Amino acid sequence: MNVIPWHQAVIAQFSQQLNSGLQGHAYLVGMHQGYGGIELTQTLAKLALCLSPESTGACGQCKPCQLFAAGSHPDFYVVEADGNQIKVDQIRELCQSLTATAQQGGKRVAIIYHAERLNTAAANALLKTLEEPGKDTLLLLQTDTPGRLVATISSRCQRLHFKLPNIAEIQQWLQQHHQLSADVTWCLPVMGGPTELLSALQSERYADLIHLRKQWVQSLSSGHLCASLSNIDQKQVSDALKVLYLVLRQKLIKQKSADALINAKISDFAAKVMTTYHELSMMPNMNYMAIFQSFILEYQSLNKS
Ligand SMILES: [Zn+2]
Repeated sequence: MNVIPWHQAVIAQFSQQLNSGLQGHAYLVGMHQGYGGIELTQTLAKLALCLSPESTGACGQCKPCQLFAAGSHPDFYVVEADGNQIKVDQIRELCQSLTATAQQGGKRVAIIYHAERLNTAAANALLKTLEEPGKDTLLLLQTDTPGRLVATISSRCQRLHFKLPNIAEIQQWLQQHHQLSADVTWCLPVMGGPTELLSALQSERYADLIHLRKQWVQSLSSGHLCASLSNIDQKQVSDALKVLYLVLRQKLIKQKSADALINAKISDFAAKVMTTYHELSMMPNMNYMAIFQSFILEYQSLNKS
């Protein structure tokens, strides 16, 4: 895939800092993975290790670039959450590695993905390295939610500035990569962002979402849970809840002029669906069939009162 348009300015800005020697030692890449935040962070790491960084990215030719592409650059480190958390041992190990001399003679670069998952002990362990980084060390902290990162960490990182695409730009970008006959951006809140939406379009997932939407609309209007929602695959439950949320939001937009009291109730109900979605990640064994049934009944009662 070509460079994602909303990544280009960040890459150019970062490359310029590298070439001018004004580059910091720690950066916060606060771009959601649904917008390609993971890919962008990788691109920046590769750029920092490259011997001839260009404004469009790493050269791809030099030895560090080749080692990086082969997944065997000895001075490149990655930390990912172990389960839901990044633990202190992972950070201690990383900080230890960063004190060693770079084997390729250039920088040592580390990425921490989903830095909002650093637990308190891990964040504290990282502080020291952020305050006194070794020479030629670069830390890239990617996060989906910059607001959830502890302030002591984010205040010690430089920010990379970017502008996310609007809905029209997203639709246009998707169009370049996938043939579209309709507006597909309705499900962006389910996806987290355009790059995830693109992979959904290229797999079965998008068609499944459309199907879920249809089933919910039917179930809400008939008052009976559709057969395919009762027999839903466990893996689809979280998508089903998010799609129900979108269907309810859509109803609110469509009936703006309707009874304000009913609208307020639908809005509360939509919030409840979202709460259930968040609870689902903590309680994977919840009886979703019973919950779906109760949602249908609750929706019926909202419109009657
Ligand atoms: Zn290179």
